[in-house]
Amino acid sequence: MRDESIFDLDELNEECGVFGIIGHADAAQLTYYGLHALQHRGQESAGIVTTDGTKFSVGRGTGLVTEVFNNNNIKQLHGATGIGHVRYSTTGGTGLANAQPLVFNYAKGELAIATNGNLVNAKKLRRELEESGSIFQTTTDTEVIAHLIARSAAPNLESAVKEALNCVVGAYALLIMTNDSLIVAQDPHGLRPLSMAKMGEATVFSSETCAFDVIGAEFVRDIEPGEMLIFDASGIRTTTFAPKAERAICSFEHVYFARPDSNVGGINVHAARKRMGRILAEEAPVEADVVTGVPDSSISAAIGFAEATGIPYELGLIKNRYVGRTFIQPSQELREQGVKMKLSAVRGVVSGKRVVMVDDSIVRGTTSRRIINMLREAGATEVHVRISSPPVKNPCFYGIDTPDRDQLIAANKTVEEIRQEIGADTLSFISVEGMLNAIGRPPGERNRGHCIACFTGAYPTVIEDELVLEGAKK
Ligand code: SF4
Repeated sequence: MRDESIFDLDELNEECGVFGIIGHADAAQLTYYGLHALQHRGQESAGIVTTDGTKFSVGRGTGLVTEVFNNNNIKQLHGATGIGHVRYSTTGGTGLANAQPLVFNYAKGELAIATNGNLVNAKKLRRELEESGSIFQTTTDTEVIAHLIARSAAPNLESAVKEALNCVVGAYALLIMTNDSLIVAQDPHGLRPLSMAKMGEATVFSSETCAFDVIGAEFVRDIEPGEMLIFDASGIRTTTFAPKAERAICSFEHVYFARPDSNVGGINVHAARKRMGRILAEEAPVEADVVTGVPDSSISAAIGFAEATGIPYELGLIKNRYVGRTFIQPSQELREQGVKMKLSAVRGVVSGKRVVMVDDSIVRGTTSRRIINMLREAGATEVHVRISSPPVKNPCFYGIDTPDRDQLIAANKTVEEIRQEIGADTLSFISVEGMLNAIGRPPGERNRGHCIACFTGAYPTVIEDELVLEGAKK
C-alpha cells in the first residue's frame, strides 16, 4: 500500500474501493470519511451517491477524495443511504465518465452501482449487449452489470441482480442502490474483500475494515463468496446467487494492497506481513548489519525479518511524502528518475553496512534496480534483497493492474538472472507455501482459500475474453 503507487508504473496497483451505508442521517459525510480511508485503493476518481428515499444526489469527480468533495458539495448529498467509490482504472480508462458510482435511469427508476474488481467476460457480454441494442455510456465493466440488470425480465430487483450476476464471471465486490433498496454482493470466489459493520442502527459496508475504525463502526463479518444481502421495505435478508465455488481471496491484499490496519478475511494485514518477513528469514537467511523495508508496504515484513534474525531494523529508506500527482511518468527513463524523487537512502544508516532490503514484490525490476543503486550510492557495502511475495509470473485479470506477461521480469528470467539484472548481492522470494502460512488462514480449502494465480497461473475462474487471453499468452 504505497500511496504514491499510481505514479509508479513498475508496481502493481489496486483498482478500486467501495463503501456503503444505510440508515444514518449523515450518510454522505460518513461515506466521505470511509472513502478517505480507502484512498490507497484508487486515486483517479471518487464518487458518492445518496438517496433520501425519493431521489438520488450525485457527487463525482476526478482526483482524490479531498479534491472532489468539500464542505459545500457534501451537504448537497441528501439522505440516509449512500454508496461511494474510489477508482484506479485498469479497464475502462480514466475520466469522469467512468467515475463511479455509475447512475442509470431504467424502467423501474434510478439505480446506482459501484464495484471493486474486474470481470473476465465483460468484453464478450458487452459485445452481445451492444448487438442487441444496448448503448453504453462508459467503458467500465460495471456498466455491463447495470445493463444486464436493466434488461432483465425478472419481476423484482433482487431477481434481476441474481440473473445478471449469474452471467458475469470474475471478481467483484458490488453495491447497488435504488431509492428504496440497497443490494450488496460478493463474487462466488470472494476475490476482492468486502466487510460489514454496524454503527448504531446503521449498517456499513467497506472494501476494507480500516474504514470502519475511522468512523467508529463495529465490524460484524465479511460478506461470503456468492452472498447477496438485500435491504428493502421488507427488511434485511441474505441469499446466495450462485452455486458454492472455491474461495479465492486475493493473496496480494495481504502482501501489498490493503492498509496494515485492515483485517482481510479476518486476518490483520500488518501481522500477516510481519509473519511473511519472519518466514522469509527462515527460508532465506543472510548475514547482514541492518534490515530495511521499502516504504510503506514492506516495513511490516522488514520488521518481521529483523525480529526473526536479530539483525536490527533501521529506516534505511525514506519516502518523500510530497511528490504530487504531476509525477506521472510514462517513459522508462522518467520512471527510473521518478524512483529517485520518491525515495531516499539514509546515508547515516546504510553507509559501510551490509543491508537486507525487504520489498513486497518485483514487477518489471526497474524500481528494485534503482533502489539498490541508491543504497550503494549511499555507501551500503552489500545489498541483499528479500521479497515477501513469490515471483509474479502471470497477469491478474481480477482488478489488479499488472503488466502483460512479457513485461513481468519473473515470467521471463530465473531468480539468478533477476538478481543480476537488479544488481543485488543475493535475492530470494518467499515460497508460495511460506506466504500462505504467513497469512495464516486455516487449512482445508484449496490454497487456504486464496487466489495465487499471478504466482502459479492457476486462475480460479475460466478466463473468457479473448483480449484477456491475448494478454496472458504474451
Ligand atoms: S491473480 Fe494475483 S493479484 Fe490477481 S486476484 Fe489473484 S492473487 Fe490477487
